[in-house]
Amino acid sequence: MEQIWTEIQNEIKEAIGATSFNSWFSRLTFLSIDNNTACLNAPSNFIKDTVLTRYASVILDAFKSHGTDIRNLSISIDERLGIRLDEQLEESRSDFSTDRPVEHPPASSQDDISNLDKRFTFQNFVVGKPNEFAYAAAKRAAEVGDTLQFNPLFLYGGVGLGKTHLMHAIAWHIKKNNPRKKVIYISAEKFMYMFINSLRSKSSMSFKELFRNVDVLMIDDVQFIGGKESTQEEFFHTFNELVDNNRLIVLSADKSPSDLDALEERLKSRLGWGLVADIHPTTYELRLGILQSKAKRLSVAVANEVLEFLACKITSNIRELEGALNRLVAHATLVGIEISIDIAQEVLKDLLRSNEKFITIDVIQRKVCEYFGVKLSDMKSAKRHKNISKARHTAMYLAKQLTTKSLPEIGKNFGDRDHATVIHAVKKVKGMMAEDREFSADLEILAKVLES
Ligand code: ADP
Ligand code: MG
Repeated sequence: MEQIWTEIQNEIKEAIGATSFNSWFSRLTFLSIDNNTACLNAPSNFIKDTVLTRYASVILDAFKSHGTDIRNLSISIDERLGIRLDEQLEESRSDFSTDRPVEHPPASSQDDISNLDKRFTFQNFVVGKPNEFAYAAAKRAAEVGDTLQFNPLFLYGGVGLGKTHLMHAIAWHIKKNNPRKKVIYISAEKFMYMFINSLRSKSSMSFKELFRNVDVLMIDDVQFIGGKESTQEEFFHTFNELVDNNRLIVLSADKSPSDLDALEERLKSRLGWGLVADIHPTTYELRLGILQSKAKRLSVAVANEVLEFLACKITSNIRELEGALNRLVAHATLVGIEISIDIAQEVLKDLLRSNEKFITIDVIQRKVCEYFGVKLSDMKSAKRHKNISKARHTAMYLAKQLTTKSLPEIGKNFGDRDHATVIHAVKKVKGMMAEDREFSADLEILAKVLES
C-alpha cells in the first residue's frame, strides 16, 4: 500500500504542480488502511483541513484508480512532524476542524451534481451592489437555451464572496428546468487530476470522451490550475473544443483571467473571451441583508441590533459572517441565553479581533485626513476649524462603525478626548448624513476604501 501511496503522491504532484504539492502533501504521511478508510497523518490542523477540503476527492479518486476499495479519508495530527509558526497562526484563524473521517459520495465522472450544496440556490442568494452583476450574469447563463450569448462565464472575486454559491445555483437551475442536461461541477484540482490521469493511462477513456456528453462544465477555483506547459496546452485544446461544440463553460477564480500568473498568456486570454464578472468586497448593506435572510431561517430570534453589530464588525467575507452567526446561535442555544451584543462580543472575540486587524483607528484617521485634506496633527489638536471638525467627527464615526474599540479608547486616540465627545461626533455625523446626500456619499466611499 505504501507503494501505491508513493505513486499517488507522484501523480498528484504532477497534477497540481510542485509548489502546491510541497505545501500540502510533502509532510503528509501514510499510516494505514482501516476498513475502507485511508488513514494519513498531517503535521498541523491547517494542513489537514486544507487537504480535506481541497484535495479529498482527488486523493480518493486516486486510490480508486489504483484498484483499492478506499472510500473515506481520515487525517490525524502528529505535531512531531513539525509545525511552522505561520501555520500555527493560520491554524488559530481557521474555524473548521473535524476529527471524523470525511465521507465523500462516490465520484461519478459523468453527471457530477451529487457534490452540489442544496442551499446554494439563486433563491438563497442575497443580491446587493457588490454582486449584482455577477448574479445577473449567472442567472443569464443558467437561463439560456441552446444558443449561448457568451461562453465561458468567468466569475471572480475574493474568498468567501459567493462564487461557488453562484456556480451551484446555475447548476441547480439548469437541472431543474432540464433534468436531461448533463452538468458537471468540479474543482480545478480535480479537473487537472482527471486530465493528467487520462493522459497517462492510455487504456482508460480519454479526457475528451469523458466530457463529450457534457452540456455544462463548471470548474471552480481555476487559480489552482498550473502545472506544465504541455498540460496547459492540452487543456487549451480541450477547452476550445467544448466551446466550439456550444457547451457552456463556467469558471471561477480569485483573480481576473489576466491576473492568473501561473497560466500561459494564450490560455489567460482564452478564459476571458466570454463574459467576465467580478464580485466586489461586501458592503454593510449586503452583509446586513444576508444576515437578515439567514436569521429568518433560524429557530431562534436574533435581534436586529445584533445583526447590525455583526454586519458592521465582520467585514472580511460572507463565509466568516455566516460562521459568526452560526456560532452565536449555537452558543446561545446551548447555554440558554438570549443573544445580545454583549454576548456576541464575548463569544466572537477572536473573530472580531481578526476582522479588526485590517482597520485600525490610525488607518481611519490617515484616510479621512487625506480625503478632507486635513493634517493628522490638526485632527488630533484642539482646533475647531470647520473642515477639521468635520474630518475629526467623520473619523470618530468611522472608528466607532468599523472597529471594535470602545468609546473612551476612540476618544483617547483623538488627542485625549472623552467618550462623550465621541458620542457627540457619531450623532453629528448621522445628522449630517441624513441631511447632506453628498456627505453621505463621501462616507460610503471612505468606508469602501477602508474596507477594501
Ligand atoms: P467563494 O466560492 O467565493 O469562496 P462561497 O460561494 O463558498 O464563496 O460563499 C461562502 C458562503 O457565503 C456560502 O455559505 C454562501 O452560501 C454564502 N454566501 C455568499 N454570498 C452570498 C449571498 N449573496 N447571499 C447569501 N449567501 C451568500
Ligand atoms: Mg469557492
